[in-house]
Amino acid sequence: MDKEKILKAGKIASQVKEYAKTIVKKDIILLEIAEKIEDKIIELGGKPGFPTNLSINEIAAHYTPPHDDETKASGLIKIDLGVHVDGNLADTAFSVDLEDNKENKKLIEASQKALEKVAKFIKQGSKTNEIGYLIQKTIESYEFSPIINLSGHEMKKYELHAGLTIPNIDDKREFILEKGTYAIEPFATKGGGRVRDGKPSGIYILIDEKNVRSPIAREILEFILEEYKTLPFCSRWLVKKFGTKALFGLKQLEQNENLHQFPQLIEISNQKVSQAENTFLIEKDKTISTTE
Ligand code: MN
Ligand code: MN
Repeated sequence: MDKEKILKAGKIASQVKEYAKTIVKKDIILLEIAEKIEDKIIELGGKPGFPTNLSINEIAAHYTPPHDDETKASGLIKIDLGVHVDGNLADTAFSVDLEDNKENKKLIEASQKALEKVAKFIKQGSKTNEIGYLIQKTIESYEFSPIINLSGHEMKKYELHAGLTIPNIDDKREFILEKGTYAIEPFATKGGGRVRDGKPSGIYILIDEKNVRSPIAREILEFILEEYKTLPFCSRWLVKKFGTKALFGLKQLEQNENLHQFPQLIEISNQKVSQAENTFLIEKDKTISTTE
């Protein structure tokens, strides 16, 4: 039954989150952190639901280390990790202050508190804008802004972003939450409260299975269909499997419009961003936070 798999994915994500808290330290290479997190997910019986995001300071989301990355952990870092069990997803994130900075800590508290408020409130029948209102009011009470063009999302089997979107502000759109699995992810910043597209992230998703001429591109496409299906993946994973020729294949698949590559998401005024995220399984008479 899928419910058991959703709960299993959540439990693994929760355990890996606790493990991640012990390994994220200043100056540790991001590549090492990402690989340890993803190895731990597999060790516990899941698979990564998407590439581990390790986004620092004004990068709000979508930084995953490339295969040859030398970036070290620093500043205000967001650790956003995903687990799936046969396509049943858990999505969770937390933020860490690696420079003992008062404002970082306050930013972290703001997004965390917003998530806690939602956790007490969210249930079948909740309206999406009521959740957005709670997030907005909580973050604003810290004199920060929520990021308005990032949002929570419903999840379905092998679909990380499916169905409903749950805003981080009161957008007045009263969509009703029905039974299902939802990720809630408040982001807080001192900046303008929006993100813009940055550099290509090396995180991709399949958009079209159509034929591609080059043999390496075709080989990679077949592997993607088999291994990731419609879940996000990254160049680092494919370099591990195929060597650096994977980068050439990925480029062709992107040009041929088989793949979409996500950009990094940067806070519009280059201010630091914090994030907190948990997954909620909403049932008729109760809501379970699967990733706590
Ligand atoms: Mn996430
Ligand atoms: Mn999410």
